[in-house]
Amino acid sequence: MYADKFRLDGRVAVVTGGGRGIGLACAEALAEHGAIVVIADIDAGIAESGKAALAAKGLKAEARQVDVTKTDQVNALAEAVVRDHGRVDVLVANAGIGRSGVAAEDVTDEHWLNVNDVNYNGVFWCNRAFARHMLQAGRGAIVNIGSMSGLISNRPQKQTYYNASKAAVHHLTSSLAAEWADRGVRVNAVAPTYIETEMTMYSSEHDGMIDVWLRDTPMHRMGKPDEIASVVHFLASDASSLMTGTTVVADAGFTCW
Ligand code: NDP
Repeated sequence: MYADKFRLDGRVAVVTGGGRGIGLACAEALAEHGAIVVIADIDAGIAESGKAALAAKGLKAEARQVDVTKTDQVNALAEAVVRDHGRVDVLVANAGIGRSGVAAEDVTDEHWLNVNDVNYNGVFWCNRAFARHMLQAGRGAIVNIGSMSGLISNRPQKQTYYNASKAAVHHLTSSLAAEWADRGVRVNAVAPTYIETEMTMYSSEHDGMIDVWLRDTPMHRMGKPDEIASVVHFLASDASSLMTGTTVVADAGFTCW
């Protein structure tokens, strides 16, 4: 009975920014548990490469292009998924950008707006578009990818715009959860620590940055994409049926100090 709660057979799941990194790991975790997975990425080539990576592991996925900042594209993606599959059960709103390392006083309008457009507006556009279908069906699970940066201020790199965008994702998550809780749609978030993906690669260009990160982390290590994907899978599955509005922190203990 308990193992069944983790199965996603026949369910349709969409992962934004799913072509690589944490998104791709989420796509793999959901597919491995039986979901029909749609990898949606701004770069069609990256979406296709994610699909190929899963195929190499014997897992099936579809690749689609979407820019989460464009509401017409997001709405069209949701329509297309429901048209082609007759349902959508899971959304992982994962697409996000960092652009870390700029002091608040030097941030341009373009920089601020761009990061918030992808990380915050994009998450809302996706939640709204997919929830419209989920609410109609009376079931659905949404998992938004926030960050421990929504809870703390990172150092040594400066990234106020990113931190604020992720705090907004956490509160958006609980607000939407409250609105949709009695209509069958759950909304939760995951707040990861530093994860080994392209996003954190820039740290290798800055002497000592990783050392500061690891010193500040009780486990003294970064995470791997699969360690976030397994939490996302749990929140997407019936194993977390009583949970909504929660931000699950997966941070190697970072916020303990
Ligand atoms: P990556 O940069 O490795 O992957 C993000 C993916 O999202 C890329 O394929 C990227 O495409 C895509 N993407 C970017 N903008 C858009 C857009 N407008 N529409 C659709 N897709 C888009 O990042 P991670 O896997 O590291 O991060 C995934 C999520 O996890 C993000 O929300 C991030 O903020 C969050 N996170 C990451 C942490 C980390 O340490 N890595 C820590 C905490 C949270 P392209 O490259 O072509 O732009």
